[in-house]
Amino acid sequence: MNKPKVVKFGGSSLASAEQFMKVKAIITADASRNYVIPSAPGKRFSDDIKVTDMLYSCYGLAEAGKDFSEALAAIKKRYDEIISGLNLTTDLTKEFETISTKFASKAGKDYAASRGEYLNGIIMADYLGYAFVDSAKYIFFDDNGNFLPEETHSALSAFLAEVPKAVIPGFYGSYRSDGKVKTFSRGGSDITGSIVARAVGASVYENWTDVSGVLIADPRIVKNPKPIGTITYKELRELSYMGASVLHEDAIFPVRKAGIPINIKNTNAPEDPGTLIVENTCRTSDYIITGIAGRKGFCSVNIEKDMMNSEIGFGRRVLHAFEDNGISFEHMPSGIDTLTVVVHQTEFEEKEQQVISELMKLTNPDSIDLESHLALIAVVGRGMKSMHGTASRLFSALANNNINIRMIDQGSSELNIIISVADEDFEQAIRVIYDTFVNQKK
Ligand code: ASP
Repeated sequence: MNKPKVVKFGGSSLASAEQFMKVKAIITADASRNYVIPSAPGKRFSDDIKVTDMLYSCYGLAEAGKDFSEALAAIKKRYDEIISGLNLTTDLTKEFETISTKFASKAGKDYAASRGEYLNGIIMADYLGYAFVDSAKYIFFDDNGNFLPEETHSALSAFLAEVPKAVIPGFYGSYRSDGKVKTFSRGGSDITGSIVARAVGASVYENWTDVSGVLIADPRIVKNPKPIGTITYKELRELSYMGASVLHEDAIFPVRKAGIPINIKNTNAPEDPGTLIVENTCRTSDYIITGIAGRKGFCSVNIEKDMMNSEIGFGRRVLHAFEDNGISFEHMPSGIDTLTVVVHQTEFEEKEQQVISELMKLTNPDSIDLESHLALIAVVGRGMKSMHGTASRLFSALANNNINIRMIDQGSSELNIIISVADEDFEQAIRVIYDTFVNQKK
């Protein structure tokens, strides 16, 4: 038997009847697209409000004992527009009566937010002629709100084995103990898709959104960046850590464990290949680098001490000073007699003097220098390993554009090079790197 595909559609892919039509065309174009995970309707235009946010604020009114009927009617209107635009006869009146009663009895914020996906799932199931499965019955959390992967997997896989085509709303499940609705964190429909893909042993988990894949660089910085063809989980992790927002972080684990690739696709351009996320690949990327990402707002603490290398426990004592003040560090490059600790500036600022005095006490350094307003940029790529000269190309390109590099950190995996520049050089540095490795290619 052919393995099924699991297809998850994000909010913008389901924001209107028109978008629903595109989604149906995508699903029916491939007979193996058997399990569909919808998000709640998202924005139709840039300053539109996502249904999830409407639900949160409507429930806020209910919780405060205020009249929420108008706010709820506005939400119903969003769904009714989709239903009539699709010429369906789905009637959500009863559902909204239940929701209204539950809101009045303060059923909880999670219950409220989950209705966005729940109702969209009912419409989608009607529209496709697929079974509707309420995720609360098969996706479980413990009393502390932690997702229960194995209990969920056995319940969901046993149930779906008997249901060949189904719509399973994203974003929520329930507490194992009392069945009350519990959501994942925001953007959590990605996680539901991944859980379902594992449960049905999918050939691929297709995650449909409004961009043609993971982009090489942030489109707010680089104009029309190219999408990445194939990326490994490790590379994706490095880019996401540095701020590239692609998938919900927790969506990787279930499919990765089961060896199922993720394909990021564009609902508005379904022919585009999108980005394939895999465990490993012998496919080389189109460019030496796979992607660039970065973040601003760091600060570096440079500690200098003659002969520090022979002082056993020096590094531990340095980190102790940060740990004691509840500050996590991002990087720790070291040189001869110097050690640098890179931290988030806002976090560090509050505790600055305490950390410095503890460093003085614990390590007795020759000097401590602080440098603030730094940005970190990660240049990530499995292809860098086999190419010599990547680092020198990177550094000369930045130097030729008068961008001063404050710090360099290359992991031993050779999967990435992290550089630090001044916050004000951040955007320009990313554009120069993109231009060097993508526009000018090899
Ligand atoms: N609708 C939820 C949110 O806006 C979950 C999701 O879209 O993935 O966060």
